[in-house]
Amino acid sequence: MNVLFLSSEVAPFSKTGGLADVAFALPRALARLGHDVRVVTPRYGGVDPRGMQPATAPLTLHFPFGDLTGLLLEHPPVGSCRIRFLEQAELFGNRPGVYGGVHGEYGDNALRFAYLAVAALSFAQLEGFVPDVVHLNDWQTALAAVALKRGYFSTELADARTVLTLHNAAYQGKFEKHAMSELGLPWDLFTSELLEDHDRVSFLKAGITFADALTAVSPTFARELQTPEGGHGLDGLLRREKHKLTGILNGVDTDTWDPAIDPLLPARFSADDPSGKDECTRALRDVAGLRQSDGPLFGVLGRMTDQKGVELIQAVVPGLVDRGAQVAVLGSGDRHFEDGYRALAARYPGRVSVRIGFDEALAHLVEAGSDFFLMPSRFEPCGLNQMYSLLYGAVPIVRGVGGLLDTVVDLGADDGTGVVFHEFSADALWGACGRALALWQDPAWLADVRERGMSQDFGWEKAARAYEAVYASP
Ligand code: ADP
Repeated sequence: MNVLFLSSEVAPFSKTGGLADVAFALPRALARLGHDVRVVTPRYGGVDPRGMQPATAPLTLHFPFGDLTGLLLEHPPVGSCRIRFLEQAELFGNRPGVYGGVHGEYGDNALRFAYLAVAALSFAQLEGFVPDVVHLNDWQTALAAVALKRGYFSTELADARTVLTLHNAAYQGKFEKHAMSELGLPWDLFTSELLEDHDRVSFLKAGITFADALTAVSPTFARELQTPEGGHGLDGLLRREKHKLTGILNGVDTDTWDPAIDPLLPARFSADDPSGKDECTRALRDVAGLRQSDGPLFGVLGRMTDQKGVELIQAVVPGLVDRGAQVAVLGSGDRHFEDGYRALAARYPGRVSVRIGFDEALAHLVEAGSDFFLMPSRFEPCGLNQMYSLLYGAVPIVRGVGGLLDTVVDLGADDGTGVVFHEFSADALWGACGRALALWQDPAWLADVRERGMSQDFGWEKAARAYEAVYASP
């Protein structure tokens, strides 16, 4: 099949979260199954264009706000998958950020991502690539589903099936309604059945309504989206559209995340030979400025936002330190969460460390060097870090929501791989930490649990086959 795959982020070129990892790994996995997959993503200012070649002639699109000329640049192939970068200086190239800069979100994100959606379709036409499937991801590219049905219905793209994957429904791309006129969207679409959401235009709602098929990044997330607690206001719509919704668990890119071959680690290890993990733990302590110790090391990694249960982690840190544990944190996000970690690191020097920022190498070392991994998310569509932690022998302590529930089996079961708790409270997390500390006291049990986690198969092939089935379904 010919697949046109649109994403606002593709690792390692641009990344703010798990979407980027998926947008790099899934297209390659689909290409390995024999499909012709072409990824289109913006060339933000931070993406180095050297080595890229124009894939077509420049193309000018006409919008009510004016004309925009862009160029499609082809990156040298990665595997058998083609990655194309949309070059448009004003909207993307002259800006370093993906969604915003130091002053917050860019004010013209509606234009920027509407342009991405439409330009990707028009460039496909220009180069004569007729997709069987146009695969969209989150609100940023969702508008292409509307464009295909309303703007391209009499073109060779008319028969393309649109699949929209929901990676995180908390971000919906809602804009003031004048964006309808600016973008040239017909006003008859501005109804509560279609694009309107509380008098604003919602790109995600547009995609959910117009896409032929929807996927969510884990089976549990697909169910949660249809509930008032987990639907982020879209539950009614998703119950209406549930006949076209499938949950498919993300895979792990094992070219990048495999402790047996990971070049970012000081020593390598595997389920068969876990001995190198100790050296990683020592290195993590050194790099993070933690004292060398025999106690357990708890790792934390990821965005510091309301989603991730940061306040629960910060509440249990003093208790963990009292019990002889250490905590290594890497991430960035909301200022008050960052400050909370800084205060804990200042209060417990050598026992609690925090690195604010984005650091790929340190992220790998946190996974490899930690004994336990804390991820008490309020909600978690799929979550990658808990899968990395399983593979890297850091026993995950997770809240039983979304993809966390689909990937971690509680210690209470014979095939346990981690600690699962349910209530969103510091007490419940503390109870889970107590169970982890009991596991720590029993080295044979710990080795067993770890080995099971490290032996999990999270390869992308299974997910790619599930997407293939969605692409092919009538
Ligand atoms: P989300 O997509 O909600 O942010 P995921 O767990 O699905 O969470 O994916 C997060 C991805 O971003 C993982 O690949 C993780 O390793 C990476 N990541 C998050 N924060 C950082 C950071 N500060 N430095 C390096 N990598 C990070």
